[in-house]
Amino acid sequence: MKIIVPANCVSEDKRIALAPEHVSSLIKLGFEVWFEQCDAPFPVSDYEAQGGRWTCDKRQLCSDATLILSIGAVSPDVLNLISSPVYVVGLLGGKRNAGLYGSRFLQAYALELLPRISKAQFMDVLSSQATLMGYWAITQVATYLPKVLPMMTTAAGTLSPAQILVLGAGVAGLQAIGMGRRLGAKVSACDVRLDTKEHVESLGAKFLHLPGIQDAEHTGGYARALTPQEQKIQQEFLKTLLPSYDAIICSALVPGTSAPLLLTHDMIASCRPGTVIIDLATHLGNSGNCEFTEPGKIISFQNVTTVGAFYPLSALPVSASLLYGKNLLAFINLIWNAKAQRWMLPEEDPLLEAMCISRFSQ
Ligand code: NAD
Repeated sequence: MKIIVPANCVSEDKRIALAPEHVSSLIKLGFEVWFEQCDAPFPVSDYEAQGGRWTCDKRQLCSDATLILSIGAVSPDVLNLISSPVYVVGLLGGKRNAGLYGSRFLQAYALELLPRISKAQFMDVLSSQATLMGYWAITQVATYLPKVLPMMTTAAGTLSPAQILVLGAGVAGLQAIGMGRRLGAKVSACDVRLDTKEHVESLGAKFLHLPGIQDAEHTGGYARALTPQEQKIQQEFLKTLLPSYDAIICSALVPGTSAPLLLTHDMIASCRPGTVIIDLATHLGNSGNCEFTEPGKIISFQNVTTVGAFYPLSALPVSASLLYGKNLLAFINLIWNAKAQRWMLPEEDPLLEAMCISRFSQ
């Protein structure tokens, strides 16, 4: 049986679905592993040493394929060459993209639909990738902030620690808090889910309550969108906070809708000179948490530097691919019943059922 890893559709995305060390595990399970020629973050020779095969010929890649592993959407050029049943697994964009995998030869699993429960965390690519995004955000603060992060006592005097505000304390936000603290900054955070207070405080950061907003936790542990009135209250509150911080990391998301607008144009005048704003919510090219950030752009105006994330993990493709591939191995262990030498049906496991966006039978 043949697993194939096509080149990424999005050229800005420098990650790859499997690292060399994952190839040998799959070969031990009885798979062949083929890659389409691309700029991989690991040497091709490392893949070949583990038994992986490379080709620049899409036909050769797709011939006899059983399973396609991808980071994001799979190119129609690849899908059109599939003429026997093939499973597709990746961050495929959820149910809205089901039509792209509607051929009777395809059965697709969108990893972003994995339920966020403890049992599933080994396969949770959203978490593994968001963790690295939180780390990346702090590296950006350290790069663009015109001051050091920790308190430094020197013969010439003492430098006070940087003050960082994290908006949205999900997986990315919590990693940013932890990294910021480790580098010696003082960190505060706010979130509309009150559950996050305990997580924020356990990392040694201060939790800021949003006045007048009740717990906005919705289903599956995610936040609900705020009402326009609540959003206005939040923006007014944040405006009062801005002068106290050197850096703001925005990582607020609400599933199924655009990122909440937290910082508007007229709020920027409240920032102190030299403030750095990192907007993680722009990472897939969408509008972010700030009205004035743009995906992939570093913009300086009114003495404030804004960084709009755009495929930020392309700056960390080795770590991101190592974690992503490990998540995929866990998924393959779920879907491939090695003992019975057969693929599991979606209805045999609630996690598979939740992720399945198209079936062979369609
Ligand atoms: P996410 O990326 O969807 O959102 C990031 C954060 O933004 C969330 O904490 C959300 O509450 C916050 N947010 C939304 N609107 C906001 C606003 N207006 N202002 C401030 N903050 C706002 O979240 P995520 O990181 O993917 O985590 C989603 C959930 O999944 C969480 O409950 C998390 O604990 C849970 N989770 C569970 C596991 C597990 O294994 N049990 C693993 C990972 C995540």
